[in-house]
Amino acid sequence: WAKEAGRHRMAMFAPKMLEDAYSRLSMEGALRQAMDRGELFMEYQPQVALPSGKVIGMEALLRWRHPKFGLVSPAHFIPMAEKIGILPEFGMWLMRKSCQEAKWIQEKLGRRVSLSVNLSPHQFAQAKLLRTIEESLDESGLHPNDLEIEIIENTLMINSSANMKTLQMIRDLGVGLSIDDFGTGFCNFNYLLQYQVDRLKIDQSFVRQAASDVNAASVVRTVIAMSHGLGVKVIAEGVETRDQLKFLLRRRCDQAQGYFFARPLSPEKFVEAVPGIERMNLSDPSGERAAV
Ligand code: C2E
Ligand code: MG
Ligand code: MG
Ligand code: MG
Repeated sequence: WAKEAGRHRMAMFAPKMLEDAYSRLSMEGALRQAMDRGELFMEYQPQVALPSGKVIGMEALLRWRHPKFGLVSPAHFIPMAEKIGILPEFGMWLMRKSCQEAKWIQEKLGRRVSLSVNLSPHQFAQAKLLRTIEESLDESGLHPNDLEIEIIENTLMINSSANMKTLQMIRDLGVGLSIDDFGTGFCNFNYLLQYQVDRLKIDQSFVRQAASDVNAASVVRTVIAMSHGLGVKVIAEGVETRDQLKFLLRRRCDQAQGYFFARPLSPEKFVEAVPGIERMNLSDPSGERAAV
């Protein structure tokens, strides 16, 4: 019975921390194998011009579906991949994959739409980044002007002289640059001027509150005005409701992205969704949201 008691003691003491550590380790192990096992894929979320409603671009978002853990959020597994050092490998794969898929989408739609790819600060500092971009463009046949890199404000601050060089070389290829989650990082306006940013993405936290909170509304208004002053395009992310859209239209925001228009979609579903999105009447206050 001593053994039995011991086991109970163990069970009693089995700290949640140990369980968490165990599941973290097993998840890290699984993540290392995710690419070889074909568990990674991309989804594409439409980006819409305002006020026309025309689909002008898409953001590539990485997905991981594990047989046991199911669909894991990138907010969870991307930092994990970064920590264990495999994010660069994922990044190279997804740059190739998303350029190919974007080219396929363009062919199906019979027109050019732009592709935005997210890069973490660490990925951005990778020596191989430039070559990966060049090869992905070459292999896919995607026009460099149709590719844009999304980075967060902090990427511009960290290791800035090396990043400055990388950025200049990326720009020399004709690839665009946007600042993601704008307003949530440590923005230095000098960097904005220096780096010749093409587009600012207003963070969803401000967009979400803009229709109801005066302070958030004033942040959104200010970012739009500043972008226009600098000759930079501005896109609002996380647009979910017609009230939010109305606010953005009134403030002359250039573009929008969010569940109101469509969720991130497979390439096939993306192509199918475009006509429906473009039929939405954005200025009609009684109109319903898209059924995607
Ligand atoms: P992000 O780049 O700011 O991407 C926008 C996130 O907002 C995506 O979440 C998207 O699905 C979600 N979203 C879009 N519209 C709405 C909306 O109307 N409402 C709400 N509530 N959410 C909306 P997701 O796909 O879970 O990605 C989370 C974050 O993970 C991304 O934030 C990005 O920082 C990172 N991430 C995703 N894919 C990649 C990738 O390929 N590379 C890197 N480095 N990071 C990635
Ligand atoms: Mg993004
Ligand atoms: Mg964002
Ligand atoms: Mg984010």
